[in-house]
Amino acid sequence: MAPMNENALSGTPVFVVGAGIMGAGIAQVAAQAGHPVRLFDLRPGAAAAARAQLADTLAGLVAKGKLTADAAQQTLARITPADSAAQADGCSLVVEAIVEQLDAKRALFAELEAIVGPQCVLATNTSSISVTAIAAGLQHPARVVGMHFFNPVPRMLLVEVVSGLQTAPAVAAAIFSLGQAWGKVPVHAKSTPGFIVNRIARPYYAEALALLQEQAATPAVLDACLRGAGFRMGPCELMDLIGHDTNFAVTRSVYDANFQDKRYLPSSVQAEMVAGGLLGRKSGQGFYRYTGGKPEAAALPVAVTEAPATAREVTVHGSGPVADFLEQAATAALAVQGWGPARHRDSAWTGLQIDRLRLVLTDGRTATALAAEWGLPAGQRDVAVFDRPVALTSAATLPPGTAVAYAVAHGCSEGCPQQAAAWLAALGFAPLPVADAPGLVVARTVAMLINEAADAVQQGVCTEAAADAAMTLGVNYPAGPFEHLGRWNARDVARLLDALDAHYRGERYRVSPWLRLRAA
Ligand code: NAD
Repeated sequence: MAPMNENALSGTPVFVVGAGIMGAGIAQVAAQAGHPVRLFDLRPGAAAAARAQLADTLAGLVAKGKLTADAAQQTLARITPADSAAQADGCSLVVEAIVEQLDAKRALFAELEAIVGPQCVLATNTSSISVTAIAAGLQHPARVVGMHFFNPVPRMLLVEVVSGLQTAPAVAAAIFSLGQAWGKVPVHAKSTPGFIVNRIARPYYAEALALLQEQAATPAVLDACLRGAGFRMGPCELMDLIGHDTNFAVTRSVYDANFQDKRYLPSSVQAEMVAGGLLGRKSGQGFYRYTGGKPEAAALPVAVTEAPATAREVTVHGSGPVADFLEQAATAALAVQGWGPARHRDSAWTGLQIDRLRLVLTDGRTATALAAEWGLPAGQRDVAVFDRPVALTSAATLPPGTAVAYAVAHGCSEGCPQQAAAWLAALGFAPLPVADAPGLVVARTVAMLINEAADAVQQGVCTEAAADAAMTLGVNYPAGPFEHLGRWNARDVARLLDALDAHYRGERYRVSPWLRLRAA
């Protein structure tokens, strides 16, 4: 194809193929941005039905005062249902959102190549198929590019612009600026399994499933912990919403596309749910039971029943924002007694020592392993680890009542679990007991998200900024993986993952070479 200008696609006619959930949304967004749109679907009547549905949606927006009647009418007038692929003739851009099957997408583009001009860009909304593979065998593979929208298209800002091996950089650049013109936030991605979002998000589900498998916590506790870390939905309620069949299929496809790298191993917990038809919200039962589309309340364990016993000595260990926060919170807690905590900044661990009890910020080692390392005798292993408050950016910014997981060492004294919980509550947390699993809940999940993003950057899939934009806009994470890394540090993340690796063995917790280099 001839060289293409970055703004080559502005305002040109667009042929959208597939009038399902995604195709209808793409047609709407393109029409709202001023493009004439022809909408085609193999199912007779589907394109007209999608247009009629859009008319209702737009009328609703007009009624709510979010759109003028004029703009709604013009948007609708720009969309024409097409009854054959031949009507792609004269379009400068095709966006396909048909069934997620390689053969179907290849056949469609091969058919369209005989209809459209040589300059027409062929974009695919595939969420999992290689863009390189879709382009293979076409006359002009350089014009094939991924334009991966998120559901619901009109509301979700992210668009992954996916380049296959043969995609012309100018084509990716033109789709990138078109995405901007459509009011979206495009990010460039290399065609690799899961692209950016579906790849980096895998550990969000996988860590929850791994903890469930070893019975470390209930779904309600895991969800509360990750909501406490700022995620809009916990992993279990989110998997219920997505549907376990869909979530499991994506995990399997990323796993298979990576040649069964054990890092991406699907979970038998989820396989069993899919096999049993416990698909989540849509089937009425997943991790939670749903009545009328609403989850039934799941009880959280009550960890604190009393105030902490009066202490003789309290010392804050470590440096950094978490230690600063602990000092501030312990100072407030002890103020009523008229004294404050000591501070040991050069300590090898971060946390609080309250007489014999050590309350340790997780570094990936279990409470039991720490107690053994410190040579504490059985019955006196009063060590508790607590989860990383990742939302904390400075000593002053943690909302009171933030859920935090904690675990006590095997062989601790009888009163230790209650004292640990009481102290965490006195510091302002809502403590949730979990089993003594390395890296607890939030720390291991966020470390794994960082690790996956680090690998993606190292492999040239995307930039750090693109990974952050993708995860905050594509799946509404409270912060991107590299923002989280900025609040933590590469050495401690790598150390936490190494501790998980030592505990579990296998490939899942393999540290990314990118992270290893930065940790050095
Ligand atoms: P959908 O089932 O709602 O719609 C697909 C439509 O394509 C159907 O109306 C079907 O009749 C039509 N179709 C199938 N084969 C066709 C062909 N050869 N020619 C013309 N029309 C054909 O599916 P969807 O959820 O809109 O997904 C469409 C694509 O978008 C898939 O590739 C999917 O992976 C991708 N995607 C989906 C989501 C999502 O959340 N649903 C998100 C991102 C990307």
